Amino acid sequence: MNRIPLVNGMPRPGLWPKVSAKIESFFVRYRDLLVWVHSVMFVVFITFIFLPLALPEASENATALNNFTRFANFAMWGLWFPLVFLSVIFTGRSWCGLLCPMGAASEWANNKGLQRAIPKWLSWQGTPIVSFLVITILGQTVGVRDHPEAIAEIFGGTMLAAIVMGYIYGKKKRAWCRHACPIGLLLGVYSRLGIVQFMPKRLKPGGDRQTEKTLCPTMIDIQRKQESRHCIECFRCVQPRARGGLFVRLRRPGEEIEQISKHNANAYEVLFLLLGAGVALGGFLWLVLPQYQEFRQTLGVWFITNGWYWVGDVGPSWLMSVHPQRREVFYWLDFIAIVSFMISVMVLMTATLTSTSAVSAWVAGKLGGQRNFKQRWVELGYQYAPVAMVSLIIGLGGSLFVPIEQVSQILASGIKIGLFLASIIWSVWLGWRILMEQGLMGWKIYLPLLPSTLGSLLMAAAWWPSIS
Ligand code: SF4
Ligand code: SF4
Repeated sequence: MNRIPLVNGMPRPGLWPKVSAKIESFFVRYRDLLVWVHSVMFVVFITFIFLPLALPEASENATALNNFTRFANFAMWGLWFPLVFLSVIFTGRSWCGLLCPMGAASEWANNKGLQRAIPKWLSWQGTPIVSFLVITILGQTVGVRDHPEAIAEIFGGTMLAAIVMGYIYGKKKRAWCRHACPIGLLLGVYSRLGIVQFMPKRLKPGGDRQTEKTLCPTMIDIQRKQESRHCIECFRCVQPRARGGLFVRLRRPGEEIEQISKHNANAYEVLFLLLGAGVALGGFLWLVLPQYQEFRQTLGVWFITNGWYWVGDVGPSWLMSVHPQRREVFYWLDFIAIVSFMISVMVLMTATLTSTSAVSAWVAGKLGGQRNFKQRWVELGYQYAPVAMVSLIIGLGGSLFVPIEQVSQILASGIKIGLFLASIIWSVWLGWRILMEQGLMGWKIYLPLLPSTLGSLLMAAAWWPSIS
């Protein structure tokens, strides 16, 4: 008989209930085997990060097909980063809960470690933003997309930080994953666009809350859970036969953001959306814009005129790219120029998009939109998520397109244009739905939608050099 799956005696909510019931029972059944998956992933991770350091220098003609160093680099930037990032749309933060060796190592260290109370500086909401920005900017100055030493430093350093932080802080929890991991924040914010949601069978009122009195490794008060951001999909709270806990619900992409007022909207997340897209843009533009070279030249002349000759010295290799064997050596001038260029682009982009969504929020208020200005502004800021996501994929995961560019430059550009067009349309749609949730109807939506649509267009237009 073709029965509809039930949750607590009621038809299972959401899209494709039979599919979500099957996913749930599969992962609950094999949950205990995850430790083996994590162990294998740990070995793979260490091999990809550190083995290239022990191998001879790759020749200039080497490719991912005949050289392990090139293969590891492509696997990292051309496959892992963009695909894990895209996967949040289809599977939420499954990477974190099911596969990530860093989070698993951090939790393992925590079980053996000091289990001290999580300090305030760590649980501050800006910590993962700072962590993301530092890693992204450092990644650019050390050349993480090109040099195996830089990959080992960035990813090995992040793994070490995850283990040390896990060893010291939290009690049977993943303090690193919730509060500090730069990748976790990225996946968490964008998982709000995704189709997978873990929902309480019996939702307690009061909204999302962090608590250490929970079996959840990322400290979600599971009975009050409404937002997807911190859920790493470890399935520990899912017991299909129990009356409590969570169940898997499938939903339309973007549904959580359309109704963001009911899912713990958060100003830090919006700030991260804008800063993250801005810093990725800066990290891309300094490589391609002639204006960056002019900026560097002007900066260099100013330093020399003022007697700061040390800017012509080579800096330390842990801070900047120093690879004479590959004909790339950065001076302090390069370091300062890259960092200040990236930060300037980030600030400019964030200020522009903050202003466009602020105008939208103000106009929405004038036309009768509900809630106060700040709440409307925060909610409307989430509409940039699709266009910011595509920016990050093209900016930080651009290697994905390299094999396509080798076949046809037109095809690669066409795919990028398609991605940007789709993301702009999705962002506008989200803006429309958020304004509806704020109580506006009909023509009253058009006016406040215009400034934020302009913001999405500006963000996409800023990426034009990556397409043309
Ligand atoms: S939050 Fe970071 S360390 Fe934790 S599981 Fe996710 S990617 Fe891995
Ligand atoms: S809410 Fe449940 S599935 Fe999500 S991280 Fe916590 S315990 Fe794991």
